[in-house]
Amino acid sequence: MALSQLLYVSQTRLDWSPDELAVLVARAQARNAQDGLTGLLLYGRGHFLQLLEGRRQPLLNTFNRIVLDIRHRDVDVLLDGPIVRRTFDGWAMGLLDVTRGGDLDRERFDRIIRAFTPGTGPVADNALAVRLLQEFRAHAAEDSPSTLPDLT
Ligand code: FAD
Repeated sequence: MALSQLLYVSQTRLDWSPDELAVLVARAQARNAQDGLTGLLLYGRGHFLQLLEGRRQPLLNTFNRIVLDIRHRDVDVLLDGPIVRRTFDGWAMGLLDVTRGGDLDRERFDRIIRAFTPGTGPVADNALAVRLLQEFRAHAAEDSPSTLPDLT
């Protein structure tokens, strides 16, 4: 089964509380589980960074809804392409609230945001972003397993 991944960054229009983020992610998880989508949502510094992975059509349908969501703006696709295997297998949508994380989380998040120039479209070399997201995953799994749904 052919799989794709899509990574975008956006600017939030709201100052999200932990409870509001939890509601957003719980709804996303329920819908993504039905659609066979997995990924990670990072929130902090006025930005969302989200990686979605799964079959192409459900992924695009979901992304098209996300783009239209008035709770954020300036959705900028950073990566979009085929993958061999999922990075976040079993996570219908993990959440990492960087505003509540440690310095290491914030530093990693800033590195991802800084690594891309808004408005330039998909980047050819996705190695840095994927490596940083994998670091986030490993770090989050160690420190805050309660934020990570285990849907395997
Ligand atoms: P509806 O539920 O009918 O909502 C229509 C519009 O109303 C939305 O676009 C939004 O602008 C607004 N809205 C919806 N709920 C609220 C609310 N509680 N408060 C204020 N305004 C609201 N959905 C997924 O299925 N999977 C994801 O992985 C996912 N990730 C997201 C990541 C981010 C950063 C954001 C902001 C949203 C995400 N969503 C995700 C939600 C997605 O944008 C849609 O709102 C959702 O999929 C429902 O789509 P719908 O067409 O049924 O919209």
